[in-house]
Amino acid sequence: MHGMMMKEPLSIIEILRYAAAAHPGAGIVSVRTEGDIHRETYAEAYARAGQLAHGLARLGVGRGDRVATLAWNGYRHFELYYAISGMGAVCHTINPRLSAEQMLYIIGHAQDRVLCFDVTFTPILEGLAEHLPKDLILVAMTDRAQMPDSPLDLLCYEDLLEGQPEEYDWPSLDEESAAALCYTSGTTGHPKGALFSHRSTVLHAMTVAICLSKSLSEGARVLPVVPLFHVNAWGLPYAAPLAGASLVMPGAKLDGASLFDLMEAEHVTSAWGVPTVWLGLRGEIDKRGRNPEGFAQVVVGGSAAPRSMIEGFEDSGVEVCHAWGMTEMSPVGTHGLLSAEMKVLPREEQMALKSKQGRRLFGVELKIVDEAGNRLPHDGRASGELYVRGNTVVSGYFSNPEASEKAIDAEGWFGTGDVASIDPQGFLTIQDRTKDLIKSGGEWISSIDLENIAMAHPKVASCAVIAVPHPKWDERPLLVVVPAGEAPELAELHEMMLEHVAKWQLPDAMVCVEELPLTATGKVSKLTLRRQFADYALP
Ligand code: ADP
Repeated sequence: MHGMMMKEPLSIIEILRYAAAAHPGAGIVSVRTEGDIHRETYAEAYARAGQLAHGLARLGVGRGDRVATLAWNGYRHFELYYAISGMGAVCHTINPRLSAEQMLYIIGHAQDRVLCFDVTFTPILEGLAEHLPKDLILVAMTDRAQMPDSPLDLLCYEDLLEGQPEEYDWPSLDEESAAALCYTSGTTGHPKGALFSHRSTVLHAMTVAICLSKSLSEGARVLPVVPLFHVNAWGLPYAAPLAGASLVMPGAKLDGASLFDLMEAEHVTSAWGVPTVWLGLRGEIDKRGRNPEGFAQVVVGGSAAPRSMIEGFEDSGVEVCHAWGMTEMSPVGTHGLLSAEMKVLPREEQMALKSKQGRRLFGVELKIVDEAGNRLPHDGRASGELYVRGNTVVSGYFSNPEASEKAIDAEGWFGTGDVASIDPQGFLTIQDRTKDLIKSGGEWISSIDLENIAMAHPKVASCAVIAVPHPKWDERPLLVVVPAGEAPELAELHEMMLEHVAKWQLPDAMVCVEELPLTATGKVSKLTLRRQFADYALP
């Protein structure tokens, strides 16, 4: 027997329409590429999204067409998110840090019809120009006065909106229709596209808004340092308006000092981003001897947040929420907020819990399996490959049957490529990505564990542990360190590590470097390091 309830399709544009009416005081503050600060309410953004949809329709954009963006976090990018999906087209966010080859591949693979870009990326497009599809329409995201002087044939974003009506007859779409497309940076092979639907996106926004409600309450001011050009800025462009939180968009300047000044000026209450970004902000906080005023929560994920970073924030009164997820999960899968019972535990135990990747979000199921695919217990000790299932998880990859087939197991779960354990309270611990684990004499060594310990040493600014080939043991760990001033001795780091890991797991050697290579998503690129040190002669 069916329930007797109406069924309205879940739709992305409904989020903004709701925010415009229900949260009239909230909106978007943006550091513009033009250099100034821009403010608009969600009602204004909704009206401009309507104008933009008219403008895009005039360019010939129709249902299912892919419209690409190459842009920083700012209000125009936000408007594109809503206008494109709202009119039934697909918003394809391109990561500007991808190589030219990868960018051309995904533009071709997605068959983008229009590409909207921030003017700072004009040189990238000029570099790609001769290989771009001839019928690709390029739109510079600025006004007429600021149009770049370029040999490219460019349209102007503000011209597209000019004179268009603010009301748009948003179509009623099947909630399963495609709304957004994001390619994983793909360390091997071509990037693969996760194709989000209206349904998955709205459900993800609702679960993020509920599970992280403290950071996203009405009136909160949230800084997404995590980019809109990758994994939907962890869903913030949808979850924040839904919850009535304002977004403070940082534009291109993401160094510690710029972030500190912006956070202080705009009274940011909660900031979201990868650990490498927070290293910069922490440095600035240490230099000024205080937090930006009003700063209360940080959500950190994308790669493991070192315990020392978590403690540093918590000691200064900023609550840390460690989150884990991936592009294929829309992307948030777990959050590390403590339950009421956990908040009364001794501090050491609380910090140990916060260093884990946290509990699943509503609607996300987790399982760990051994090499034969048998389920392993959630006892905090057994570790195996992590699989996930739920309404916000991909069922395959866009236009890629081969990768789609490999992605899903016989029970219909998606293989994350992460190795993890899950404790009886449901807290997930990511040990490593399968490709980053170090295989020594048939045993595994977790690079994340060793990095976490080394990061707590005052002489270590940042570090990475990678596998280097070894004639007897197959692979052994090499510690790559960026010193914070005077270089540490390997022996003193070993001493610290021995408190937590077995002797055979200690790194065989240490090299000091000036900086670590980063991936397109701002994580340490272990692939680059492994290539760089492939011939490293261990002692
Ligand atoms: P990519 O970096 O490959 O483009 P994603 O941004 O989707 O793709 O990254 C997903 C991966 O990042 C996860 O599979 C996991 O290995 C890693 N990751 C994400 N969050 C965390 C975290 N909090 N701790 C450890 N690893 C994390």
